[in-house]
Amino acid sequence: MAFESLTDKLQNVFKGLRSKGKLSEAEVKAALKEVKMALLEADVSFKVVKQFINSIQEQAVGAEVFGKLDAGQTVIKIVNEELVKLMGSETTEVDLKPGNEITVIMMTGLQGAGKTTTTAKLAAQLKAKKGRKPLLVACDVYRPAAIKQLQINGEKVGVPVFAMGDKHKPVDIAKAAMEHAAKNGMNLVILDTAGRLHIDEAMMDELVEIKDQLDVHQTILVVDAMTGQDAVNVSETFNNKIGIDGVVLTKLDGDTRGGAALSIRAVTGKPILYVGMGEKLSDLEQFYPDRMASRILG
Ligand code: GDP
Repeated sequence: MAFESLTDKLQNVFKGLRSKGKLSEAEVKAALKEVKMALLEADVSFKVVKQFINSIQEQAVGAEVFGKLDAGQTVIKIVNEELVKLMGSETTEVDLKPGNEITVIMMTGLQGAGKTTTTAKLAAQLKAKKGRKPLLVACDVYRPAAIKQLQINGEKVGVPVFAMGDKHKPVDIAKAAMEHAAKNGMNLVILDTAGRLHIDEAMMDELVEIKDQLDVHQTILVVDAMTGQDAVNVSETFNNKIGIDGVVLTKLDGDTRGGAALSIRAVTGKPILYVGMGEKLSDLEQFYPDRMASRILG
C-alpha cells in the first residue's frame, strides 16, 4: 500500500507525543527529528523536508507549547496542517474555457508514466462531470502502438480519437484535429503527445512548438509516483522548459513511498490535479490535499 512505511513511522512519533504529558522543547525537537527521518526515507526532497520541519519548529515555539499539557496534540495538529499546506491546501481543477470555445489540453510525460491511459481517463471524467464533448488526438507518432492504444482506450470510454498515422508532424496533426473538432461541435481537444524514455531536446522542442502554434490552454504532466524523486525532477524540468499547469500523479495504488506526492507542489509551485489509482479507465481521482494528508497520517 502507498505510504505504508511513512504512515507507520509518523504514527509511532505521534503515539510518543500523545503518551507524554508536558513536553519540553528538547522532546519536541527529538520528535520532529524522527518526522524528518521518516520523510527523507519516504523520498521527499531534502529541501522540502528542511523547510517543512523548520516551519513546524517555528510554529511550535510560537504556540508556546513547551511545558503545556496539550503540547503533543498541538504539535500533531501543526504537522497535519503543514502536510496539507505542502500539497497545496486547496484542490485545483483543470481549467476549462467556456463551453462555446474549444479548450485544448496538452498531455505530456515520459514513456510508461501512464500518459495515454490518463488521457483517456481525463476525457471520460470531463465528459461525465463537466458535460464536455472531447476529442482525443494521437500525436505520439514515434510509437504506432501508442496510437493504437489511444484508439482502444477512446473506444472504451466512448470518446472519439483523431489520428493521422505516423507520417505527419505532431503539430500538423494537432492543427487538423482542431478543425475536426470545430466542424463536429466538440469543445475539448486533448493531445496525447510523444512519450520518450528520457527527456531530450527534440522532445521539448516539439512540445514547445505545439504550445506556440496552438492555443494550448492547459499543459498537464503525467508522472509515475513509483519513481519518487525522479518524478519530482521530471516535473521541475518540464515546468522550466515548457511550463506546466498541473500534474497527474499515477500509480498511487501501488506501494509508492510517497515522496512525489509530498514534493511536487513545493518544488515546482504547480498543483497535483489528479491521482491515478489503478489501470481501469475509471481509476482517476481528483487530488484533495487534506484527504491525502489524512491518508498519510493513517
Ligand atoms: P505512457 O507510455 O505514459 O502512455 O503509459 P501508459 O498509459 O501506456 O501506461 C503504462 C502502464 O501503466 C500501463 O500498463 C497502464 O495500465 C499502467 N498505469 C497507468 N496509470 C496507472 C495507475 O494509476 N495505476 C496503475 N496501477 N497502473 C497504471
